Amino acid sequence: MLPLTMADFKNKNVEHLNGVSPSKARALWEIDVRTVLDLLTYYPRRYLDRTNQAMIADLEDGVEAMVMARVHSVFTKKIRGNRTMVTVTVDDGSGRLRLVFFNQPWRGNQLEKGQEVVVFGKPDLYRGQQQMTNPVVDLVGDETGRIVPVYPQSGKAGINTREIRRWVDEVLRRSEKRGIGDPLPESLRARHNLVGRHEAFDTIHRPESMTAQYDARNRLVFDELLRLQLKLIMRKLVMQKDALGICHDSGDELVGRFVKSLGFPLTGAQRRVIHEVMKDMAQPVPMHRLLQGDVGAGKTVVAVAALLTAVQGGHQGALMAPTEVLATQHYLGVRSLLNEMVVPAPNSLLAERPLQVALLTNQTPGAERTRIQARLGAGEVDIVIGTHALIQEGVNFASLGVVVVDEQHRFGVEQRAALRAKGSNDVLPDVLVMTATPIPRTAAMTVYGDLDVSVLDEMPPGRTPISTRWARTPAEESEVWDQVKAEVGRGRQAYVVCPLIDESGSIDARSVTDTYERLQAEELAGLRVGLLHGRLSPAEKESVMNLFRVGALDVLVATTVIEVGVDVPNATVMVIVDAARFGIAQLHQLRGRVGRGDQESTCCLLAADAVGVAAERLRALVGTTDGFELAETDLALRGEGTILGERQKGRTDLKLASLRRDKNWVKRARDTAEELLDLDPGLERHPALRCEVELFLGDDDADYLMKS
Ligand code: ADP
Ligand code: MG
Repeated sequence: MLPLTMADFKNKNVEHLNGVSPSKARALWEIDVRTVLDLLTYYPRRYLDRTNQAMIADLEDGVEAMVMARVHSVFTKKIRGNRTMVTVTVDDGSGRLRLVFFNQPWRGNQLEKGQEVVVFGKPDLYRGQQQMTNPVVDLVGDETGRIVPVYPQSGKAGINTREIRRWVDEVLRRSEKRGIGDPLPESLRARHNLVGRHEAFDTIHRPESMTAQYDARNRLVFDELLRLQLKLIMRKLVMQKDALGICHDSGDELVGRFVKSLGFPLTGAQRRVIHEVMKDMAQPVPMHRLLQGDVGAGKTVVAVAALLTAVQGGHQGALMAPTEVLATQHYLGVRSLLNEMVVPAPNSLLAERPLQVALLTNQTPGAERTRIQARLGAGEVDIVIGTHALIQEGVNFASLGVVVVDEQHRFGVEQRAALRAKGSNDVLPDVLVMTATPIPRTAAMTVYGDLDVSVLDEMPPGRTPISTRWARTPAEESEVWDQVKAEVGRGRQAYVVCPLIDESGSIDARSVTDTYERLQAEELAGLRVGLLHGRLSPAEKESVMNLFRVGALDVLVATTVIEVGVDVPNATVMVIVDAARFGIAQLHQLRGRVGRGDQESTCCLLAADAVGVAAERLRALVGTTDGFELAETDLALRGEGTILGERQKGRTDLKLASLRRDKNWVKRARDTAEELLDLDPGLERHPALRCEVELFLGDDDADYLMKS
């Protein structure tokens, strides 16, 4: 008899289990449990360890505890503001405890006299009696085991944790004879100290001890992550198999000259990443690499090295930025970096000509645009920098060799694809995606599993760190404005950033305009203050930016349009109004606009009433300027749902694994997947694993992931 496989469990519907009536089956459907596999992977939400159980008589004020007791009475009443209050008294033989639930009217139906419940909470003495307010309650029934699993249950579905336990028991009991097969080779299990698959399923549902539960969880976590990594990497292999790229000249003729022409030595990280990029580009397989680097880490130099690697072999490079302002900034920056660079031109008198860089955006006048397009088509422009305009109809390249996309989170996948399609003769250009929003490495392996990831994790030397303060009170706020005036007095400049309020931009324009007028009239009276927001025409924007750039404005009041790319080294103060409304990543990005020169810089966060998570975000910003550390905090505060996207997480089969908690396992799964696929790209020699990858992660799921 062969051991049972996951497919066997998937092929069996839950209604075939004893005790699953048609109405229970319907209820299970509601919580997405349709097959026996769904049931087996419907994991306990937590465990009651009865050795930690307290008696009501022994409860201490303010000390969290768990008690197991019987419901004595349930009483519902309406209170002020049309709210409900349900009061439940429970008794465990040693004493009575009052539970009070505010705004949970359904508790009145859920709990009834005589029921056994487990209650977690913090008791307080209220009018002489122990009371817990809004405690966690589980209905467990009479339990004899020492460790009792508690399943997530949906009240409205009408199933309780005890029923789930019974059905799971039945599945496990029926599986004993054949056993549950293990798709992992013994050697891998030994290397990572993993328990067998059968034991893992058995123990996660019916642990003998919490240590055993921990081992079981690790095994199942590893399985989830390994399947995902196998899927992502197999996908990448398939893409690469069908794709023909350009083997770029890996010599460093132009790149070498460029590096020498810089006024500074590269950082170790820049050298490493440039090497990674050039190595990729020399391969016949198109590069698909993500470059993560904090604001100011020096990504531009890497981008230029990639562009030049294409150019030195006679191809072209494109750099695409999300906004007009940023594209222009890049254009000016790249042009000055490449000043006086020449490229071979066999047909010309000197056999060389100046390297040509062009800017192409929606603002480019028609005649100019036509001319640039013609030169791109003829191969006379080596590097083109622009916005979405680059991927529009009519833009054709003689030989597009590499595409660098800055700040990819603003670009849709379709746009990236469109630019890739500008390659000629079915040859795909290499793609380098740059982002200044670092995400933790392990999360990157999951979210960008189809990309190779390079990290610029070293700041160029000589940066004066930005000090960040959080102004909470009106007095502190007025100190902030005094500081702005003092800095301006020293010849420096400042940004004042206001949050976006709505998508349309009209309210933003109003609110930022209000702030601007108020500051000009009051706090910053006498200073030269400019205003920048998304509702201005591009020409107006450009003119304000220019005034600020050349120092004709002391203060720039702006919405987040300045978030990326604006580079004015003389700006040393950034004031962020209503800072609690921004996320960590965005605040960090904004802050990166100062501290770009050799002057000491400050970022001031105005947030009078930030509490809870918002306050933690601000504290994190005050505490560190390390983008990766902040990314970790962000992940911890927001949960991985927001990184993966709730829907994505649901569809990636990550039921137990947490990108935060299981970082080491992500890494191990990635390495293992690479190792397995290196020797056996189609998993021919691991058919059980291959089946599981297909079973858990159908094609749709992977497609969805790729579109992140
Ligand atoms: P990013 O795009 O990663 O935010 P930039 O490429 O704009 O950073 O670089 C920020 C600043 O640091 C620029 O003024 C750049 O000239 C400078 N820079 C880059 N690399 C180095 C280096 N290795 N040493 C010193 N300065 C550097
Ligand atoms: Mg940049």
